[in-house]
Amino acid sequence: MHELSVVEELVSRCRRLARGRRVVRVWARCPEGMDTDELVECFDYVVAQLSQAGEGAFEGARLRLETVPAHIRCACGFQGPVAPDDIAGHMGICPGCGRVSELSQPPLELLGLSFAGTATICAPPA
Ligand SMILES: [Zn+2]
Repeated sequence: MHELSVVEELVSRCRRLARGRRVVRVWARCPEGMDTDELVECFDYVVAQLSQAGEGAFEGARLRLETVPAHIRCACGFQGPVAPDDIAGHMGICPGCGRVSELSQPPLELLGLSFAGTATICAPPA
């Protein structure tokens, strides 16, 4: 699994969007089957590393995850949701043909950020 690299990518996007503002919450969406506890742990780890490096903008920031049904787009032509039991990490078993395909959605999609002292949520550009 590649939770850490997925989270590092999310955090570096957040840093670009935050431009030095103090981040208190990061909202993101992930497909069912991703280990949300692991993602949150990775987030806390990445944020702690940043703080240690002297960047305090994410100190105490929390990751809030929303899970959505996992979808695949298979070579057999099937496109659609996969049963939670047929998902492992970022792969799913096609209900049409039984092949293992990568999920067709990103492992972690940034939904928004909120900043200290304001209710502002900065949604990422589409
Ligand atoms: Zn298939």
